[in-house]
Amino acid sequence: MTYQINEIFQSIQGEGKFSGQLVTFIRLQGCNLRCAFCDTKKAWSKINNPMNHEEIVEEVNRLSNYCPYVVITGGEPLIWDLEPLIDELKNNYYLVHLETNGTIACKYWRKFDYITISPKENQPINLRIQNTDMFSYKYIVTEGLKYEDISKLANVYLQPRNNEPEMIKKAIKLIKRYPLWKLSIQIQKVINIR
Ligand code: SF4
Repeated sequence: MTYQINEIFQSIQGEGKFSGQLVTFIRLQGCNLRCAFCDTKKAWSKINNPMNHEEIVEEVNRLSNYCPYVVITGGEPLIWDLEPLIDELKNNYYLVHLETNGTIACKYWRKFDYITISPKENQPINLRIQNTDMFSYKYIVTEGLKYEDISKLANVYLQPRNNEPEMIKKAIKLIKRYPLWKLSIQIQKVINIR
């Protein structure tokens, strides 16, 4: 299967449950949404950088440094059929994580080792996962985020938009209201890495 690839690179995961972990990112091109605060707008435009699943995994192997974690991100990766890519990564013994906005249902979600769903304002969550150990929600804290939007959910990380001080204050206020939620600071922006 051929995909349009924005970039493949290795770095420190800066967000959510695996923050601080060395991972290899596969960023796919294209997204079904257009969020105002999007920090990966480069994944919106049409580019022509086709790679098939075998070529992608060859590149991951080249970068690997024996790092077992691969994060498929975007854009919105679930606009693509990811099964051939997951299978090829699994054949090469990688642990495969997904970062998604949750708007697109996915029948093969069990093939991922971990899923981060980052719901967006006024958008439905159509990706349903039954195993609570293998996913978390990551909410971007903006002026518009309301406690009621997330009040019924477990496994929640609150990530202040662009690490803005006002949004950090708001996130902490929300966490004090529901102490099982956690703060996620984008450490890649603090230490200025990709
Ligand atoms: S869903 Fe993610 S990648 Fe797509 S526009 Fe929104 S923030 Fe950007």
